Amino acid sequence: MGKSGIAAVLDGGDRLPPPPGNSDYDVVVVGGGPAGLAAASYCGRKFLRTAVFEGDCWGGILTRWCPDKKIDNYPGTPPGVRAEELARSLVDFAERSGVDLIGKRVEEITRNGEIRTGNETYRGNVVILANGSTAAEAGIPRERELAMEGGGVFYRIPDPSRFRGCRVVIVGGGDTAASHVQRLRGVASRVTVVHRQTELRCGREEIHAIEGDGDCEVCLQTAVETILGDDRVEGVRLKDLSKGATRDLEADAVVMAVGTMPNFAMFRNLGVSLDPKGQVATDPWQRTSVPRFFAVGDVCSPLKMIITAVAQAATAAHQAYAEVRSPYWK
Ligand SMILES: Cc1cc2nc3c(=O)[nH]c(=O)nc-3n(C[C@H](O)[C@H](O)[C@H](O)COP(=O)(O)OP(=O)(O)OC[C@H]3O[C@@H](n4cnc5c(N)ncnc54)[C@H](O)[C@@H]3O)c2cc1C
Repeated sequence: MGKSGIAAVLDGGDRLPPPPGNSDYDVVVVGGGPAGLAAASYCGRKFLRTAVFEGDCWGGILTRWCPDKKIDNYPGTPPGVRAEELARSLVDFAERSGVDLIGKRVEEITRNGEIRTGNETYRGNVVILANGSTAAEAGIPRERELAMEGGGVFYRIPDPSRFRGCRVVIVGGGDTAASHVQRLRGVASRVTVVHRQTELRCGREEIHAIEGDGDCEVCLQTAVETILGDDRVEGVRLKDLSKGATRDLEADAVVMAVGTMPNFAMFRNLGVSLDPKGQVATDPWQRTSVPRFFAVGDVCSPLKMIITAVAQAATAAHQAYAEVRSPYWK
């Protein structure tokens, strides 16, 4: 099929002349979630030579964790659009914008913009870090050992049918926990949400959905003290944090939903400044402390949503253009 839109223009030779230096790309984006795909697309639309690298699943954490999840809070999309459909349209947009989509994991980045994937090296004049986040551990005794295959501790629910007829304990009370409850509805035989705080910390709509679900019990001001069972989950010991009392609850699976941590470990050598929460610190233009390095999306954002990731992406692309092409209006 022939290319259309900006991709066709680029093939027609209308690319801007290469910038000074010996770069493969004007802009290299690390991570193919909503933030990275949008940043790459906006750079492509500005006729910057742009590549985006994805080491696992195009579309990011949402597509990897719950591809069938309905996204109701991203404007301009059909009601109830599924995560994988939204991912597909973000990938299409990047392709139409003339971006090179490279399905490889970035193993190393240097401060001069060298990107290493296995034996290959690429270079970008500007680098946009959009490498997202991963599930945080809850720090419950036995959590790690039972997180192995068949142990019954999970951090995501890619396929709800795996939990058919199971008694599931969800640890956490935010949007991710709410999302798990919705996806397990009618599949799990019983869902118990265990949350340390005095109220759930998700949207009003999600709270109504959880509280209106007859098969879901919510235990507030409660912690999972330990996970019971030898080789696999057989239950949890719950502690009432207001009274100090404990009780055991039988369960077949425990799903952790206590937040995420930025995927930053591998890029520590860059020396990019972090904020007190361990996220990449940026200025209002999404610039990091290292010149020509930007960060967008969950790796740096206090608000972890698709719309904020995409908005930061557009901001970074605008500023990246200004740094590659000077003056920026040409
Ligand atoms: C269960 C759940 C439900 C959610 N529901 C909603 C919702 O309904 N609405 C909403 O707005 N938001 C929701 N969110 C939040 C939303 O998914 C995130 O805010 C959004 O995905 C952030 O996009 P991102 O591109 O910054 O990060 P990610 O989506 O995490 O993408 C980062 C990508 O970078 C890749 N990567 C990491 N390291 C490398 C590397 N070294 N080389 C190459 N690639 C790499 C990863 O594989 C990943 O694909 C939900 C999140 C979860 C976990």
